[in-house]
Amino acid sequence: MADALVIGAGPAGLMAAGELARAGYDVTVCEAKPSVGRKFLMAGKSGLNLTKNEPLDPFLANYLDCPPVLESALRSFGPQEAINWAESLGQAMFTGSSGRVFPTVMKASPLLRAWLAELDKLGVTILTRHCWIGGSFFDTPQGQTSIDAPATVMACGGASWARLGSDGAWASHLDAGQIAPFKPANMGFLVDWSPHMAKHFGQPVKAVILKAGNAQIQAEFVLSAKGVEGGGIYAVSRELREGAALTLDLLPDLTEDQIRAKLAKSNRKDSLSNKLRKALKLDPVKLALLNECARPLPDDPSHILKNLPVPLQGPRPMDEAISTAGGLRFEALDDGLMLKARPGWFAAGEMLDWEAPTGGYLLTACLATGKLAGRSAAAYLLDLKNRSPSRA
Ligand SMILES: Cc1cc2nc3c(=O)[nH]c(=O)nc-3n(C[C@H](O)[C@H](O)[C@H](O)COP(=O)(O)OP(=O)(O)OC[C@H]3O[C@@H](n4cnc5c(N)ncnc54)[C@H](O)[C@@H]3O)c2cc1C
Repeated sequence: MADALVIGAGPAGLMAAGELARAGYDVTVCEAKPSVGRKFLMAGKSGLNLTKNEPLDPFLANYLDCPPVLESALRSFGPQEAINWAESLGQAMFTGSSGRVFPTVMKASPLLRAWLAELDKLGVTILTRHCWIGGSFFDTPQGQTSIDAPATVMACGGASWARLGSDGAWASHLDAGQIAPFKPANMGFLVDWSPHMAKHFGQPVKAVILKAGNAQIQAEFVLSAKGVEGGGIYAVSRELREGAALTLDLLPDLTEDQIRAKLAKSNRKDSLSNKLRKALKLDPVKLALLNECARPLPDDPSHILKNLPVPLQGPRPMDEAISTAGGLRFEALDDGLMLKARPGWFAAGEMLDWEAPTGGYLLTACLATGKLAGRSAAAYLLDLKNRSPSRA
């Protein structure tokens, strides 16, 4: 029997496994899928934004109502520690102009390979195709098996991109009262576009201000056949999910009066579209959006250009979301991420009930909570050993 069992081989589980193994414990990781870190590798397809290079207080402000345990995990393992960790695995990192931090190779596979080699050196055993089905039971290709250990860290991920392993099925193996309902986070939204928008699908809408409820951000987003997606939309997705309307400022650098003055100076013979294009340099994508969302255009479009309502029809399905809110409630855990109702069982990563935007905040919190859960599990094992030395 191993000293410690880790369920789930994503970033949170692998971090916990390393922490336990470095403390001298024999660790087995059980992963449902045929290979490890599938969502981590998927995150690498867009460059692997590992963290955000910013001081800790503004960094922490991105975690909605940041629970004290998460804050303490991030204070021990924040942006700088995430960068140091990746560099200690031989990965050169760089900070982009927005402060977001990536490996210079802009992918996750070299980092994951180096990480697995380190875990292998530490003696960690990884069993793939071992799907936890509750208690000490796992489904494997050879049938059901029981694997027990004095300490267990659950790191089964959230409830999106089920094909990569994080299907949220783990929630049914825990007490329902401990689970906050899953909700999509950092997701796209549906829009019922008219056919003339088709030629703009896949194109970015650049340098706009997106407004939703109290949230406001200057960013870009992408038009797709099904609606809107991308960084700017994800940044306001929580407010939109909770029912706020989406309004765009298509010309953030101009006031309404400046827009009016520029239009007044333009050639009177030009159509309104030509005036918008020539006098305001409105690009074809923004012009199409304006015509789509503000038909018929008013004679004076200056107000609508700064306050364009986009008619959303709800979020895209949760399985397509970058992350999920909801999961194991922090009230069910102690300050070492151990389940109060199940001593010796710890939890980490996206399966916990926290929410943050994209931009490196997700992975940093998964790594930080994985580290804290692993460290707490190691302390729990040491305590067990001290209390009953014959077990050692
Ligand atoms: C397209 C995309 C791009 C992203 N890009 C970024 C980014 O650039 N930066 C960022 O910070 N975040 C990004 N994320 C989010 C980030 O990848 C996740 O938040 C992170 O992987 C979660 O880590 P985790 O270890 O908690 O869970 P996961 O990575 O989901 O790992 C959980 C593991 O547990 C296994 N598992 C689940 N149930 C069981 C079970 N019953 N038994 C055994 N094993 C089980 C799963 O198979 C999986 O391997 C992105 C996500 C997506 C989908």
